[in-house]
Formats: sequence, structure tokens, C-alpha cells
Amino acid sequence: MLALSTAHDTALCDVLAAHGAPAWRARQLRRAAWRPQVSSFAEIADLPVALRQALAEEIRFSTVTVAGESPADQGLTFKLLARLPDGATVETVAMETPARGQSGRRSTICVSSQVGCAVGCPFCATGQLGLIRSCSAAEIVDQVRAAAAALTRHGLGPVTHVVYMGMGEPLLNSEATIESLRTLVRAGLSARRLTVSTSGVVPGIERLATTGLPVTLAISLHAATDDLRDRLVPLNRAYPLEQVLAAGTRYVTTRGRRLTFEWCLIGGVNDSLEQARMLRNLAREAHAHVNVIPMNRIDGSPWGPPSPAAARRFLAGLDGVRVTVRDTRGAESDAACGQLRAALERRRELRADGTLGPMKRPGAPGSRHAAGS
Ligand code: SF4
Repeated sequence: MLALSTAHDTALCDVLAAHGAPAWRARQLRRAAWRPQVSSFAEIADLPVALRQALAEEIRFSTVTVAGESPADQGLTFKLLARLPDGATVETVAMETPARGQSGRRSTICVSSQVGCAVGCPFCATGQLGLIRSCSAAEIVDQVRAAAAALTRHGLGPVTHVVYMGMGEPLLNSEATIESLRTLVRAGLSARRLTVSTSGVVPGIERLATTGLPVTLAISLHAATDDLRDRLVPLNRAYPLEQVLAAGTRYVTTRGRRLTFEWCLIGGVNDSLEQARMLRNLAREAHAHVNVIPMNRIDGSPWGPPSPAAARRFLAGLDGVRVTVRDTRGAESDAACGQLRAALERRRELRADGTLGPMKRPGAPGSRHAAGS
């Protein structure tokens, strides 16, 4: 079925023409798709009623329904559990950052690009799921629409930034990721305010560079040496640090955008002064900004956040580079990076196809959880 958010103009016009409606109605439909108060064709008041009904049968208004919403950070963050047409679920996070000093207000949506993830980083709740499937471009864009509507409901927004940092590796789903980026730009978002975060898929970085879109590239580094990165980001065995950094530098040269290094700070694993010094040297060489994200504690992982003293020592080791320490938005509501979905799955059985069903008794056939919570 055609998805409204990513349908090409010709396809929309064909459907409209088949119902005797003029082509200019396509523009009307596109505008309506981004109105936060409108959630179905039936609510597009400026369309004839018969046309609304006909379109609802042929075009999917949205590929996302919100199956759960969880607030955090005194009402400035909302985690949505987005249900896709086949029943699979992903997480989408909407974060409001009030204006501070010279920086203006930001409303950022963090989208998922895949259901689960094949990369399998051991500190990540999503990595523990494995890959179930990739999201379509419409499913990525519709997460933004659904989260934008949630922000409006809470008196926040409009959306200023979109980051591809939710579940999945966007550059292992590069065609859908690129189509969704193009769609968001057509909808009026600045490409400079879109950030694709990758664990280092070199061919994907190169593909992104060919699009002509000046989106920001973030590389999830997490380790400054191959031996440690092989453990933290298993994809490093296919694309070692040197190749990833070279691809990042080429991207920056081609697109004229600043590079960002992401570093999930894990207590006793990658928080040494030695790693900090090596990261500092890499960041200086690449003129990269560094985002440090203290790890959220996740069920089943022996790892956790660093001690305050280790975090201070690590940050001191990054002198001379631009560093932001990102707050782990959503940690308080069990919903940072794969955890909202993981928490719900503990209560409801995750089927092999990524859909949720009633929780089976522990030990029952097909149950993936030894003990429900
Ligand atoms: S951190 Fe990112 S790349 Fe690694 S497993 Fe999690 S979602 Fe995948």
C-alpha cells in the first residue's frame, strides 16, 4: 500500500486522478500529512468526504501508530513506542531543550532505522535483540510525524532537529535512510539539522557523501584502538578504525560538514586517561566534536556508567577539543536506546517476527525470557 509520507508526486496524482480529483490536491495532502492535529484522511477537513474515504482505502496515512508513551525529564522528553504496520515496534524519542544563553530552543526527534540491530554492541539493549528487519523510509519519516504530534500535544515543538540514533544502524539500511532524509528536507527541515549516527559502515558513509545532502555525520567511536573497539563495536572487525576515520574525513571534505565522534563512557572499560588522550588526538586530527554519553545501566550487562572520578579524569584528558557531555535522556523511565522496548518485551512476549504477543509463562515453548518481570 502507498505510504503518504514517501509517495512520489506522480503516484499521488495517479490515485487522485482515478477518483476525479485534480493534481493540486497532492500538495494539500502533503501539507495535511505534517499537521500535528491531523491523524487520518477523515480529519482533512478541506477534502471532499468521498475523496477522504477513497484515499483511506488506497494510501496509508501513517505507517506508525503510537503504542505507548513514556514521559521523562520533567516533561521535556517523551519516549514513544512506535508500532509499524506488521506489528513490529521501535522506539522514537522526542526531546525539548529550552533556550540557554546563546543557544536557541531545540526540539529533537531521535528515530530508529531498524527493528533490532545486527551490529551487536555489548553495551546496547538493541544490540542484544539482533536484527529483526529494517524500517522503510516511510516508517522512519512517520516516526518524526508521530513524535512531532506528541510534542504539539504537550505544548512543545515544532521539530528543529532529527537524529538517527535510535534502534538500528542507519547505514546498514542506507537506501531507506537516504530516502527518509530527502523526504524530511522536502518537508522543510534543514539538512544541516539532520544527523546520521553510524557505528562505522564505510560503504554507507561513502554512499551518504554522494547524496549532496549536507547532513551531519556522527561516528560512534567508543574506543580509540582496534583491540578495544573490536570488543565494543563488533563491526570494527570488518571496518577497522583507520578505514572508518578515513571515510569520515572524506565525508567532511566532500560535504563541508563537521564530524562528531560519539563515545559511550563505560565504567572500567573505555574511561581510562590513556583512551581519553588517544581520542583527543583523533578528534584534533579530524577537527571533530566529541559527544560523551555516560552508559545507561541495562539488564543483563555487567557494564555500567563510570564513577564520577573516572568521568572527570576522562574529560580532563580531552583538553583542547570541543566536548559535549550528553545527558542520557530517558534513563529514568527505562527508555534510553532500546530500553523502553526491552522493558515492554519483558512483560509481553517478543515473537520471532518482531511483533508483540501476550507474555508466555517462563519456560513455555517459544518463550525468549527465562523469567518475566
Ligand atoms: S549501539 Fe547502535 S550499532 Fe551498536 S548495537 Fe546498538 S543500535 Fe546497533
